[in-house]
Amino acid sequence: MRTLLFSRTEACLERTGVWGILLGDPRHAQQQGFAMRCLFCKSNSSTSRSLEHIIPESLGNHTQTLPPGVVCDKCNNYFAREVEKPFLETEAIRLLRFHQVIPNKRGRVAPLAGVIMPGFPARVHLHKELQYAPSIETSFEALEHVLRQRSGMLIMPAESDLPDGLVVSRFLAKVALEAMAQRLVDYPEGIEYLADEPQLDLMRNHARKGEISSWPYYSRRIYNTNATWQMDNATDPQVIHESDILLTDWNEWFFVLAIFGLELTINYGGPDIGGYERWLAEHDNVSPLYWGKNAQPTSL
Ligand SMILES: [Zn+2]
Repeated sequence: MRTLLFSRTEACLERTGVWGILLGDPRHAQQQGFAMRCLFCKSNSSTSRSLEHIIPESLGNHTQTLPPGVVCDKCNNYFAREVEKPFLETEAIRLLRFHQVIPNKRGRVAPLAGVIMPGFPARVHLHKELQYAPSIETSFEALEHVLRQRSGMLIMPAESDLPDGLVVSRFLAKVALEAMAQRLVDYPEGIEYLADEPQLDLMRNHARKGEISSWPYYSRRIYNTNATWQMDNATDPQVIHESDILLTDWNEWFFVLAIFGLELTINYGGPDIGGYERWLAEHDNVSPLYWGKNAQPTSL
């Protein structure tokens, strides 16, 4: 078990949810003139200019950001290159982005390899300029075969599991800490607190350097990739990503993220996911994203 006790300020259950830190009056904090320090490397980040996307833009996130300085420019660039890119390039996420047509920052969707039966290699492209209509790139032999048969069958992979190991756990560690910061972003004292808190150093350093070779996370599908939700004010929206922080009765803190229904959970306290399995067993395997205050569908 990896318990965390946030005792410097007072950890408590927020009226509306599972996360809350009682802080002083934010106006007081601002009057004190806190120097901005990076949540990850703890260096002075007052001159940083980059917005940090908590979930990458290439996963459809255009609104969940942290203001400049919460994550310094250097860490921002490093995470984009060394943590987010490897995650986005995993087979599982590439397939999701293709099938759900999630363009990257430049509006492009990476092509996907497939096979025209009985075995001709093919690549399927989605064209930005044609509202992401598909085209198939293949050999002349394959084309001849399809014309001769007057039909053809294209087979493409639908889903793949995420790999174990650092690529996913470092990505989750980064997103988890930033999600915590997002809740405190209006309180400079709160961001300062997160940067200082030694209990979060293990996770911080894992995101930055991958220091722990195996930091287990819990992965499962909680609803179908193509699931849509009936909402009062919109017609059948799809939930791309949603997340929350779960505090268990044993003071274990978990970050729970779902991307198109693929739930990924990591422990803030260290490389141990046993407490989450125990929580699931005691709660009929319900997802914390759809439990308690989250009983109705919500997005991140
Ligand atoms: Zn930094």
